[in-house]
Amino acid sequence: MQHYKNFIDGKWIESESKEKIKVDDPSTGKIIGEISCAKKTEVDLAVNAAKKSYNSRILVDMPILARAKLMRKIAEETRKVAKEGGELLCYENGKSIGGAIKEFNDVADIFDYYAGLTDKLEGKTIPVSKNIFDYTVLEPFGVSAHVVPWNYPIAMIGRSLACSFATGNSTIIKTAELTPLSATIFAKALINAEVPNGLINIICGYGNEAGSYLVSHQDVNHVVFTGSVATGKKILHSCADKAIPAIVELGGKSAGIVYPDANLDDVLDSARHGIFGVAGQICTAMSRLVVHKSIKDELVDKLVNLSKSLKIGPGIDKNTDLTPVISENQLQKVEGYARSGIQQGAEAAYGGKRVERDGYFMEPTVLNNVSQDMTVAREEIFGPVLSILEYEEQEEAIKIANDTDYGLGAGVFTKDLKKASWTAGHLEAGQVYVNKWFAGSHATPFGGYKQSGYSREKGVDALKSYLQVKNVGISLN
Ligand code: NAD
Repeated sequence: MQHYKNFIDGKWIESESKEKIKVDDPSTGKIIGEISCAKKTEVDLAVNAAKKSYNSRILVDMPILARAKLMRKIAEETRKVAKEGGELLCYENGKSIGGAIKEFNDVADIFDYYAGLTDKLEGKTIPVSKNIFDYTVLEPFGVSAHVVPWNYPIAMIGRSLACSFATGNSTIIKTAELTPLSATIFAKALINAEVPNGLINIICGYGNEAGSYLVSHQDVNHVVFTGSVATGKKILHSCADKAIPAIVELGGKSAGIVYPDANLDDVLDSARHGIFGVAGQICTAMSRLVVHKSIKDELVDKLVNLSKSLKIGPGIDKNTDLTPVISENQLQKVEGYARSGIQQGAEAAYGGKRVERDGYFMEPTVLNNVSQDMTVAREEIFGPVLSILEYEEQEEAIKIANDTDYGLGAGVFTKDLKKASWTAGHLEAGQVYVNKWFAGSHATPFGGYKQSGYSREKGVDALKSYLQVKNVGISLN
């Protein structure tokens, strides 16, 4: 079995405890590798390495174009490992091989994007009086700890790390215990790019051990967390205790409103990617569709046909449409949600059960006649389960879509762009997709309203959460 290690201070480090985390392939349930499990000792090593590199000012004082060049080199080396890393990601996460390779290439793109912004982080001069020259500088926080989830392990590392690096912070990444292996291939790209030791450290340990110790570490100055609301709240408490800033990107229960004039092919295409892609394990999954009464039956029929047509299988098979969920636990949870929906009165227009085969496969599931009080309409399922809710009046659709504690994504399907823009203005969500779920890119700000978190990742907006403003006033007397 392949054995992997933590990447600390530019070296591969075995855990002092000798404990290992085993990782399986969700399409078979078979163990494919193991990683040395980071404990307090390794967290201390990683934080010390990051602190030492930050105090050396190697990145802070690096000529800004050299920093940009180094980021472009990271992008180039990441592209070179995209195939190797993508395969490992496909096996450990279960997602499609195409999606997994794309994740590495997307990270390369995001490094290129932020490389181009390093020399545009400008302060300003502020008029005070004729005897005072006043200006601001944007400075990094220092040691930034990033805790990432398992659904997009490489993309989540890339989007926060690229900002952290572009702004001069030294970073420690704690990967998720279910998908820690492919990040070691990304670490190889960092070595090949000759990133100075200690600026980026990647460790894996359990969340309630290594994760909680890392975010509460006295030498960590800034935290980025992507994951569930429950863990996010714990991390916010821990950051509050130290009065340090935290970026939190949490879960969702996103709804798409389908108006009577919608192009239903757009809705189907969005369902294919938005709820059945990555087996629905997407923070902005299109988990609810709020559909006008006049077109609901037609749309449900089409969604059933789509579900029937999906080829279920392992991500490594290029013909697969629906890949497994991450674990047996997740499968039980998702199946339990579908069952609860049916018990509470929804109709399984399609699916509703696990697939009887090795691995952790859930049927594509379309639940019709869902009402707002049902658990499936309120809680994040994180599986390929789509809930259909009906409305008659436009305001009612908005009310249903917004009737959630979450506010990550939302969507609207209509040919009338005036109506689309009115709807976007009334939806309580950090991003609104019109006629295409996931419309956006690495350049568009991403984040939540309400309990889905705050701050923004991606785009120019993200950079300000990684910087603090220093004001300098100079007496000219
Ligand atoms: P999770 O909260 O269980 O775990 C996320 C990470 O936190 C893991 O690395 C885990 O080890 C670590 N962790 C767990 N407990 C911890 C603690 N007490 N202290 C510090 N770290 C701890 O989430 P998950 O199941 O891995 O991921 C799924 C969730 O992530 C979903 O809710 C999904 O919507 C959300 N997510 C959000 C975004 C976004 O951008 N908003 C993106 C991807 C996933």
